[in-house]
Amino acid sequence: MIEPITSMKNAFDLTGQNAIITGGNGGIGLAIAKAMAEVGVNIAILCRDLKKAEGALEALAPYGGKYESFLCDVTDLPGVRKAVADVYESFGEINILVNNAGVTTNRAFLDMDEDLSEWYRVINTDLHGVANMTYEVGKRMRDAGKGGSIINITSLSGIVVHKNSPRSPYNASKAGVNHFTKAMAVELGKYNIRANAIAPGFIRAGFGGENPSEQFKAYIREQQPLGRLGEGLEVGALAVFLASPAAGHLTGSVQLIDGGFSLS
Ligand code: NDP
Repeated sequence: MIEPITSMKNAFDLTGQNAIITGGNGGIGLAIAKAMAEVGVNIAILCRDLKKAEGALEALAPYGGKYESFLCDVTDLPGVRKAVADVYESFGEINILVNNAGVTTNRAFLDMDEDLSEWYRVINTDLHGVANMTYEVGKRMRDAGKGGSIINITSLSGIVVHKNSPRSPYNASKAGVNHFTKAMAVELGKYNIRANAIAPGFIRAGFGGENPSEQFKAYIREQQPLGRLGEGLEVGALAVFLASPAAGHLTGSVQLIDGGFSLS
């Protein structure tokens, strides 16, 4: 059983916990890493681009914890198995898994090539990558018997479909992970492992490092009740909450953070 909090004093305390963050070398993943590092979490970044990870580790260093990066393509199960084994060897145990790594597309379904390579590229990363990571880390969390928190970064696109932005494999993957999160909440609850998803709308930290255009920012101002892009730190704050003792009774939820976009 996950003990309920009895006061607010340490309700958000994550000091000394260890987290894996896939794609933590940039964008929203790095913003989540910074938010967690700031409240005392040690971070293992799993990513394909270790050069980019060097910059992320430098950005985390001032928070004073243990931060390391590990080469890992989440689509490659044997590679995931090795990377997770290496993380456990270095960190001893993992309390928090953030499945953040993701790719998207802007190709209409019927315009894809004969092999549907764009479909498989996105599904392999955004859906199968989450399954690969959850399998390898989930088993170790179960066997360690100390519970854990799994946080899947999905998307508003897993809930709604934007008319002018064709991305069907992304829509399907993110909707799939939202429901996979609920399945994991049900299956892993008995091990005190909680599973929740964060579904961001339009967040400034990501976009593969590109700055959103003025036209796009104007569209957000027009369409969204809160009138601005979300910040990576705001997604990070939500991840900190979901990992914390304050969220001890929260599992299987999909937390939409979209400035009200989906309502308008
Ligand atoms: P970025 O492109 O900036 O970052 C994506 C990260 O995923 C990169 O650090 C990349 O690491 C990693 N990654 C991609 N493929 C793989 C792989 N096969 N194996 C390991 N790592 C991989 O995107 P964002 O920060 O915007 O996106 C982060 C998450 O947030 C994604 O899941 C995305 O769908 C979601 N999201 C983003 C929104 C936004 O507005 N930005 C809105 C809604 C959801 P590497 O460089 O090493 O390849």
